[in-house]
Amino acid sequence: DVENISDLKKLTVLGHGNGGIVYKVRHQKSNSIYALKVLNTTSSTIIRHQAAHEAEILKRLDSQFIVKCHAVFYTIEGEICFVMEHMERGSLFDSLRVRKKLSEDVISGVAYRVLKGLQYLHGMQIIHGDIKPSNLLINGKGEVKIADFGVSRIVEETRNNNNHNNNNNNNIGEAAIACMGTCAYMSPERVDSERWGGDYGFAGDVWSLGVVVLECLVGHYPLIGFGEKPDLMALICAICFGERLEMPETASPEFRRFVRSCLEKDWRKRGTVEELLAYPFVTKRSSSSNIEGLII
Ligand code: ATP
Ligand code: MG
Repeated sequence: DVENISDLKKLTVLGHGNGGIVYKVRHQKSNSIYALKVLNTTSSTIIRHQAAHEAEILKRLDSQFIVKCHAVFYTIEGEICFVMEHMERGSLFDSLRVRKKLSEDVISGVAYRVLKGLQYLHGMQIIHGDIKPSNLLINGKGEVKIADFGVSRIVEETRNNNNHNNNNNNNIGEAAIACMGTCAYMSPERVDSERWGGDYGFAGDVWSLGVVVLECLVGHYPLIGFGEKPDLMALICAICFGERLEMPETASPEFRRFVRSCLEKDWRKRGTVEELLAYPFVTKRSSSSNIEGLII
């Protein structure tokens, strides 16, 4: 186990994100490899609060469908460091960039694992809130796991805040948090509302999964035409009012049914995680579906 941050040797940079860098590191004593996410928090109290919040959530999670967080360190320089399970094959974002499109069989395996991860999180009253390709990571076995709880919230906390504190003083910048999550994968009800959480929050994760699943088959972000300039207003309009779902002609009936249910604009009519796990698109996948097709 990693007891001291100075025992970790930085090897390479795995990626950059919103306010942080992820390194591949070696734990000198055990010779194990980890991913180290370093968030610089000196600049912003919002990020500091958010990261501390992320740490509290991460420490409680233990599932084969969620990227494991082994330890959290706070440095005197004001950084927060998360020691995570190293996911050797990077993210679904990287995988899509190289392979462009994935087969339905592979996508089915991805959908199954993300749904199982969401089932676990939702069971703990946690909304992920930022399901998107760069937050779905792939390990050496080709298994997909959910990562990155930077904008997640515990529903109960939100409820408590709503009940006991209507002046919103201690809500660390609802708008700022909303801007940081990627708008493209946000559900209509989330785009529509300044705050999130409450009963509709869980359904928002399902919407995001629907966007990801369709993107995997279409080969590009699916809610606006390919090559269109990603203008924020156009994006919001497409999410909230766009009627046309660009479904490839080759898409199977099972795929169509699954995606339509995820991308139901009225969250009350949207499929729940439990319901979607029982859809033929998910149950009919072949046992090998999560391996080869993802590997770059
Ligand atoms: P955002 O800041 O909005 O979450 P992001 O997901 O791209 O954007 P990070 O979460 O900081 O940003 O991750 C950056 C990249 O680092 C990821 O896209 C992924 O390629 C890589 N990465 C993150 N965590 C791990 C990990 N545990 N193992 C391997 N690679 C990782
Ligand atoms: Mg991320």
